[in-house]
Amino acid sequence: MIAGTVCLLVAVMTLQTRRNAAGANALMILLLALAWWDITYGIFWANTPGPTKYFWLDITYLGVVTVPTAFFVFTLNITNRSRWLKRPLAILIFLEPVIVLACLFTDSYHGLFFAGKRVENSAVILDAGPVFWFNVIFSYSLMLLATALLVRTFMRSSGLYRRQVGIILLGIGVTWLNSIIFVAGLNPLPGADNTPFSFTVAAVAFAYGLHRYQLLDIVPVARDILVEKMTDGVVVVDSQNRIVDINPTAMQLLKISEPMIGKPVEQAFQNSRHHRKDQPEFSSPQTEIELGGRNKTYLDMRVSPITNEKGRDIGHVILLHDITKLKKIQHELHLLATRDALTGAVNRGHFMELAQKEIHRAKRYKRHLSLILMDMDYFKKINDRYGHAGGDQALIALKNICSDNTRKMDIFARLGGEEFALLLPETSLKVAAKLAGRLREILEATEINSNLTKFHTTISMGVTELIIGEEDTLERLLQKADRSLYKAKASGRNCIVVWKPELG
Ligand code: GH3
Ligand code: MG
Ligand code: MG
Repeated sequence: MIAGTVCLLVAVMTLQTRRNAAGANALMILLLALAWWDITYGIFWANTPGPTKYFWLDITYLGVVTVPTAFFVFTLNITNRSRWLKRPLAILIFLEPVIVLACLFTDSYHGLFFAGKRVENSAVILDAGPVFWFNVIFSYSLMLLATALLVRTFMRSSGLYRRQVGIILLGIGVTWLNSIIFVAGLNPLPGADNTPFSFTVAAVAFAYGLHRYQLLDIVPVARDILVEKMTDGVVVVDSQNRIVDINPTAMQLLKISEPMIGKPVEQAFQNSRHHRKDQPEFSSPQTEIELGGRNKTYLDMRVSPITNEKGRDIGHVILLHDITKLKKIQHELHLLATRDALTGAVNRGHFMELAQKEIHRAKRYKRHLSLILMDMDYFKKINDRYGHAGGDQALIALKNICSDNTRKMDIFARLGGEEFALLLPETSLKVAAKLAGRLREILEATEINSNLTKFHTTISMGVTELIIGEEDTLERLLQKADRSLYKAKASGRNCIVVWKPELG
């Protein structure tokens, strides 16, 4: 009676997991059948009078014939073989209990079940008619087949799934042990059948496995080949974002060493950074994540949902691909396309792009934006006197001076030859002119080293500012700076000229 009550309670608990656990329905039927078996058998042993002589023993069979079928369906569900139920096999599995029950209840007309061998006051039938034996063989065959399927699945699975199947196998082991004890004649309660009790122990183990892991229909198919040896990282998570499976590549890519099965997926990504956020977004289908540390690595992360036959989301597969090399090449390509090789300053094309954006921004928010145009003085002479390499050193010196004396947001560009531009967001004409003067002075005072010779050079600059009210364009801004620069050259060089309307 206690065993039957336990079965009923566990059946109610299982009701709650029905939604996302495969096999929960079959397990519930199994538990209810066991409860029926346990309780009616208990009532029989209590010598409770029934409407007919063997009433309680006869109706016990309702549970007895249901258990193997329910257990078999449960096994098919959790080993991902539910499709077997669509085959003719299914008809046999579901019809057999009905036929056996029909023969039992009509036995007095044909004797196919008991064959007149029913022994008074015995709860165990050891010898009876053909239908009885058919049912015994059928039940044991189903149990044997189910056990074999579970063992096979256990051998092939891994991680959380393997643990679940392991618990279910332990449970089923109890029923086999009981059968062995019974056949060996070691039954501690002679005359009583312990089968329902051993099955109750097993069913509670099944329910524990199901509740503990709530595993879904995720079965790693040919896992060794597909996942274990893949050069891409694979992480499988269940509907509660817990890690169900993770391959060695994923462990290595995510720089984790401790076991991750059963842990929240966020934990596996704790070494990663994702754009501005600390944690990657598991809901977006494709993102890039960055792993810090001494050697920065970049991973391409793709998340795809896993759905069951009914289309319900039961988890996610996360694929990780190392794109560090690609990122490095991308970075180099970007530098090549946007920077000048000699000085590392922004090149003309990229400057035009960046300047256009700054002009839009300055106009929209009505902010200051100044431009300084620079051209080295008598540069041909420097090349003549100190060689091309000497000229190059002068250009590099200018770039260093400008980098050291400007802010990160300022844009220093080599427009060509020995002509440079310095675009200064959030800077008034007055401040820009002051900066230009300072840069000019520093360059003048700087000693340039080239091939054991030292020399000095100077620079001329034109300074201008974007006028918000007027329709100042980038072209107009460059033109104004150029006119000022021309004026500076005409005024004797090594000086700065601030644009005035008279300059045109
Ligand atoms: P000005 O004061 O009028 O500017 O006289 P300048 O000699 O500097 O005249 P201009 O600006 O016309 O001369 C540009 C010279 O810069 C021409 C070329 O020989 C030299 N040049 C251009 N690109 C490079 C370079 O990458 N390295 C070196 N060393 N020289 C360059
Ligand atoms: Mg020049
Ligand atoms: Mg020039």
